[in-house]
Amino acid sequence: MTVSGSCLCGQIRYELHGDDLRSSFLYQCHCSRCRQVTGSAANAVLVIPERNFRWLAGDDLVKHYRPESGSGASFCPECSSPAPFSDESGRTYWIPAGGLDSDIGLKVGAHMFTGSKAGWDEFSGPGQCFDEGMS
Ligand SMILES: [Zn+2]
Ligand SMILES: [Zn+2]
Repeated sequence: MTVSGSCLCGQIRYELHGDDLRSSFLYQCHCSRCRQVTGSAANAVLVIPERNFRWLAGDDLVKHYRPESGSGASFCPECSSPAPFSDESGRTYWIPAGGLDSDIGLKVGAHMFTGSKAGWDEFSGPGQCFDEGMS
């Protein structure tokens, strides 16, 4: 299967492909950092190996905010949509699930940091809940 993704302004575009995409890990993190980055209750991220990922456009435009400690953000400088990013080895990619252009047929597998979720965050749905990260 092949699923494309893009940012709001369309300058950043990417593609996920592979028969094993449906067994990918999809999670949401409800921590304060992810709330700030998304402006919402949680992020939603798909974790896939490099072989399942391809940039179509705009990979050189992506801005990375990397603070000394903790997680940062990767985003389109034009429209601020979250963008895919990889770890230092480049072997794993984190894909913003909300950026996918069509349904990938996956359910959320885990909810992280539910112990510190926003007071107004009343999420429900499938997936295991973790007070903090999974590690
Ligand atoms: Zn954009
Ligand atoms: Zn988080």
